[in-house]
Amino acid sequence: MRKVLLVRFGEVHLKGLNRPYFLKKLVANVRRAVEPLGGRVWLSDSRIYVADAPDFDACAQRVRKVFGVHSVSPAVEMEKDLESICLAAEDMMRGKQGTFKVFGRRSDKTFPLDSMQLAAEIGGRVLESNPALKVDVHHPQHKLNVEIRDHAYLCVEEIPAVGGMPMGTGGKAMLLLSGGIDSPVAGYQIMNRGVMVQAVHFYSFPYTSERAKEKVLKLAKELGEYGNGMLVHVVPFTELQMQLHEKCPDELGTVLMRRYMMRIAERVARANGCQALITGESLGQVASQTMEALVCTDAAVNMPVFRPLIGLDKLEIIDIATAIGTYDTSILPYEDCCTVFTPRHPSTRPRIEDLEKAEALIDGERLTEEAVNGVETFRTWEMDL
Ligand code: ATP
Ligand code: MG
Repeated sequence: MRKVLLVRFGEVHLKGLNRPYFLKKLVANVRRAVEPLGGRVWLSDSRIYVADAPDFDACAQRVRKVFGVHSVSPAVEMEKDLESICLAAEDMMRGKQGTFKVFGRRSDKTFPLDSMQLAAEIGGRVLESNPALKVDVHHPQHKLNVEIRDHAYLCVEEIPAVGGMPMGTGGKAMLLLSGGIDSPVAGYQIMNRGVMVQAVHFYSFPYTSERAKEKVLKLAKELGEYGNGMLVHVVPFTELQMQLHEKCPDELGTVLMRRYMMRIAERVARANGCQALITGESLGQVASQTMEALVCTDAAVNMPVFRPLIGLDKLEIIDIATAIGTYDTSILPYEDCCTVFTPRHPSTRPRIEDLEKAEALIDGERLTEEAVNGVETFRTWEMDL
């Protein structure tokens, strides 16, 4: 008898003829997640198995963050011997209270009991050994799964995982990552669709501190736990911001800044093989996120801009940030470069002609080029934060 993790996958079932491709990626991603912990991974009968890891809980926690995985169950694997299976079932249900149901599943048709008989036999033995339990076939509190395949597998706990599509099956995109609550959530949503996401962060030293940068790197590291780590491109943005601040109309400041962020992000994205940009914008959330402002921001670039939070309100975004584990870092107090130069009365209905006129007042192309050339790239898996 040994412990294994049963790893179930959801949406990849749906992918018809491409199924082998999606599955191969998924297995490789699970493998990459658990190999550092000593786990061994294999695929059998539409199920991924992990075994041989000294720390099973840590393994389960890693696997539940692998996109494409639907749920994870710590299980025992044993010989297909009914008496041993019953003893293991009794053992698993020891100390539990309330209601339960046994789900039997016989894939190996040479096993003498069919699925119903198996469930009935094991259910009876569990009841005898633990009188605190009652059977409820409709709404059981504990579901004991017994499967007869190449071996017998028993599990009672099912840990929900992140779902989505396996990372690497959906192309590459560049996330504009600020230190706020929204952008990490936006990145997560797109990663969840199988996209490999890199991050670009605009940094206005000395107006924003070294700690503000570290906060962003920490957020990227937290997001990177859902993939194979993350590349973070940090862009020196001070000169552009100063020029916009000094030479252009104050009320257009935010949208101008956002247009330059998009232009720089687009260049960094192309240089890194990314096909789309991602932002944490949500319609109407602030002055620079009115429909008019978003139209002007989009007009600065040719690449598609994904805004997965566009229809969410702040509380919904906070719920996701909490669930994925970025919220506590996001609310650390350090200044973001946007807040430092925020105009007093930002325009909520900017017009593209006015923006273009304002942009003619600075040497935008040179400043954009300099910012791109000054990019410093960090790898979250090398960072000790
Ligand atoms: P967030 O919580 O993500 O900071 P926000 O509500 O504060 O969002 P804005 O500051 O207007 O909104 O920024 C909108 C989006 O622009 C962010 O979600 C992010 O994608 C991008 N962004 C803003 N500031 C930066 C920055 N310093 N570096 C990289 N991207 C940024
Ligand atoms: Mg922000």
